[in-house]
Amino acid sequence: MSTDNQHYEELQKRIEQTSHNWASRIEGTDIVIAKGSGGTFPLIPQLQLDINTERYHTFIHELLTLLELEQPSLAKEYSLLRQSLHESLLKEWFEASVATNFFYFEEYAKNLSIAKWLPFFIAEHATRPFLQKLVLDHKEELDLADHQHGCVACGEPARLAIISKKGKKELICPRCNYSWQEKKISCAHCGTEDHTKIEILKLEGQENEQIHICDSCKGYTKVIDVRKMIKKESPQLLDHKSIHLDYIAQERGYGIPTKAVTH
Ligand SMILES: [Zn+2]
Ligand SMILES: [Zn+2]
Repeated sequence: MSTDNQHYEELQKRIEQTSHNWASRIEGTDIVIAKGSGGTFPLIPQLQLDINTERYHTFIHELLTLLELEQPSLAKEYSLLRQSLHESLLKEWFEASVATNFFYFEEYAKNLSIAKWLPFFIAEHATRPFLQKLVLDHKEELDLADHQHGCVACGEPARLAIISKKGKKELICPRCNYSWQEKKISCAHCGTEDHTKIEILKLEGQENEQIHICDSCKGYTKVIDVRKMIKKESPQLLDHKSIHLDYIAQERGYGIPTKAVTH
């Protein structure tokens, strides 16, 4: 692993710790459903949500402070972003982030002449603890949904699964932490359970990692066996640590739909 990769992984770990800290600070009144009763999935993008924008703002500032320390070469860009983010924009940011509105954030970056990825990256990370809180509060309702085709909570396409301590295949969403069980031989994207269509790729020397590829829809899922792992890793960290599996799958022509298709 190169130094750059190590640095990147370290940074991800710090962001992860910060995010964990945020999740523990979120209170019930920080996110409330203003409109929408659920029943259709993915659930969260269809709700009108009121959040504690002051808390959201604090998360954004804390993340920028962390990045300023870790990546001083980008300090000017972080500072421009910090100054631009007025109180009145926070609700808009949150809503655009929930809807993964890349266009909104790219335009925002363009107006400030800063890196294209930056505003979305910041907004998305600060949004996740709110989504995670909603998932915790609505788990029972979410468990009743048809779980094919991606995360029924936030709409993120499925890409990561674990083989749990009980030996079950459990899809996990690195965005909102919602998880659901699935048959071992089944495609998380198109739902096929046809054994002739699904192939399990195993990597030499990496017994805990697999890629499930589907020849029906050309989709793939990374599957990590966590049974022998001593330390419990978060979905976000598992997702980052297994990025090499994404490269392998994509090199072979498999992909992940950009938006989950729900019925
Ligand atoms: Zn999700
Ligand atoms: Zn498929």
